[in-house]
Amino acid sequence: MLDAQRSDLVLGVVGAGTMGRGIAQLAAAAGIHVRLLDARAGAAEEARASVAAALEALVAKGKLAEAAASATVARLQPVGREAALAGCDVVVEAVVEDLEVKRALFARLEAVVGPGCVLATNTSSLSVTAIAAACAKPGRVAGLHFFNPVPLMKVVEVVAGARTEPQVVDALQALVGRTGHRAVRASDTPGFLVNHAGRAYGTEALRLLQEGVAPFWELDRVLREAAGFRMGPFELLDLVGLDVSHPVMESVYTQFYEEPRFRPSYVLRSRLEAGLLGRKSGEGFYRYEGGKALPPAEPPPLPAGEKRPVWACAQEPAALELLQARVRAAGWTLEEAARPSAEALLLLAPLGRDATSTALALGLDAERCVAVDLLHGLERRRTVMSTPVTRPGFLASAVTLLSADGTPVSRIHDSPGFVAQRVLACVVNVACDIAQQRIASPSDIDAAVTLGLGYPRGPLAWGDALGPLRVLHILQALLAATGDPRYRPSLWLSRRARLGASLLTPEG
Ligand code: NAD
Repeated sequence: MLDAQRSDLVLGVVGAGTMGRGIAQLAAAAGIHVRLLDARAGAAEEARASVAAALEALVAKGKLAEAAASATVARLQPVGREAALAGCDVVVEAVVEDLEVKRALFARLEAVVGPGCVLATNTSSLSVTAIAAACAKPGRVAGLHFFNPVPLMKVVEVVAGARTEPQVVDALQALVGRTGHRAVRASDTPGFLVNHAGRAYGTEALRLLQEGVAPFWELDRVLREAAGFRMGPFELLDLVGLDVSHPVMESVYTQFYEEPRFRPSYVLRSRLEAGLLGRKSGEGFYRYEGGKALPPAEPPPLPAGEKRPVWACAQEPAALELLQARVRAAGWTLEEAARPSAEALLLLAPLGRDATSTALALGLDAERCVAVDLLHGLERRRTVMSTPVTRPGFLASAVTLLSADGTPVSRIHDSPGFVAQRVLACVVNVACDIAQQRIASPSDIDAAVTLGLGYPRGPLAWGDALGPLRVLHILQALLAATGDPRYRPSLWLSRRARLGASLLTPEG
């Protein structure tokens, strides 16, 4: 069987475009001999020259030794014919994303390479199983899914098709390990691991937008500054381009036979049809000038609100303490009686529920109610949510009180789970269901998401930090409020939450 550590290991790379040259560079830098082939004459030589230029730039910055750069380039050998791949231990294809082209290529390669050669595909959206089915020995075929740019994106999905032999997956995992990247193993399912786990962030943000909960830029701010994501979902959609992200959303949704958790949004479709593709077209959700997003058109801030007595109520005792401490610190009068006075501003801190349901359940005057999201405490950007009948003066008072210490406040319309609770619960839930379906191990899911999507923590560890039971409550409340099965909790989550176990607990 293939020994990935062998010093004379030879890797064939077919397709010398964006991905092929990145894969070739990474492997050559790890001491592997690479033969690079492209259907277009001269493309493999161009790829070698572009790798040489990239390495020279690193040498100039003092980040790479001259000798290491020239040794890497010396290990890259452009070849002109498929026959030159005879003798390769592994061949990775990174040609055009077309099932028939990839199937035909692998069928031809089988006639060229030796019986022990592993064939790997860098497809991001096609079925590895379907590509392998064209081969006489489908057991030697697996997915090896790199991310762009390959040298910097340190995660690689090793994808087992229905007939892939386990030792092939082991060998590819070891090969990835040799390059210094982190291999994650995934079964051959739509979106594999990273593109599957990434479904919740954008789709839930789009649902919030579609529901009129807040403008896109406010949703971005909450998710960046309160929840801690590096980029807001709409900034991310603009960066990737709607022409890429919307078809991926539709494709994963269709391939999972219309799983409601992945339901795409008509909002994106219509913006795509309008040519609002994002950064690349100068306008997406944001408008861009000189490569920078212009500030969104915001409504004027609310006038300062009147100081009123405040009565607070929270689902969790710690949240109530935080809220009461903030009222006192701002120097406002806190009512401590079991029921509020007739003048009081009523501050609520629900988990999963919207402001309306919380006000009704507590028998409170909804016109004076404002809800505050305490999932992340009150340290960072704060979110306040009104009922449809909250009087503007009471909302203004709540904003004035909560921004008195200079912390920014986002205003949203009524939404079960505010913004951060909803989006995070969905992110955790999708990851839990990936674990439940045995698509990948819990630790690989978290590694893939942090390295592949840049989330500040893995979704399962994040769920643990928030508290699995709280995540479960948020989803149950969302399901009850909307009746939408996209919020049904994954069995992985509901079992572990009720048992008090970590979401990273694998099934024995
Ligand atoms: P690309 O267009 O930059 O490069 C493809 C190269 O393959 C071209 O140079 C083309 O001449 C060559 N080619 C086409 N058919 C060939 C054949 N039969 N034999 C040899 N060479 C052939 O494309 P890319 O972005 O590098 O993508 C390649 C593969 O990697 C696709 O399957 C894509 O889905 C996947 N992928 C792309 C990204 C990305 O961000 N670009 C990320 C992950 C995976």
